[in-house]
Amino acid sequence: MNRDHEFMALALEQARKSYDEGGVPVGAVMVENGKVLAAGHNQRVQQGDPIAHGEMDCIRKAGRCARYDTVTLYTTLSPCMMCAGAIVQFGIGRVVVGEDRNFKGNAGFLREHGVEVSLLDDEGCRSLMDAFIAERPDLWDEDIAGNG
Ligand SMILES: [Zn+2]
Repeated sequence: MNRDHEFMALALEQARKSYDEGGVPVGAVMVENGKVLAAGHNQRVQQGDPIAHGEMDCIRKAGRCARYDTVTLYTTLSPCMMCAGAIVQFGIGRVVVGEDRNFKGNAGFLREHGVEVSLLDDEGCRSLMDAFIAERPDLWDEDIAGNG
């Protein structure tokens, strides 16, 4: 049974939470053996932390893990190079991406480093980012330092 959409819905819930807080709406969840290890979202605005992208916040919230090879990370938006680097560094086995139309991200880099990547092209993830980018182009530009 493919539960990717179910877990992506949880990541999108996190993204909406950040949006409602006036933050960048990217959410992530980490899952191992069908169990959610952690959920997080971008905290740039909320915590004044430029490194706290959704994926980084989620990895941090999961706390210490000895191994990540059986972990799947769900993220509403294709990972930037910082987050892709953390994914490769920790050897996260699989990444499921909500959408990559608003930000191409680094799926190729992840695959080159042995990470399995699945793209859902989820309409909910896409429309939330569309709305945010239209409403706060300044904040979006800041989050990726103009490297979109
Ligand atoms: Zn990132």
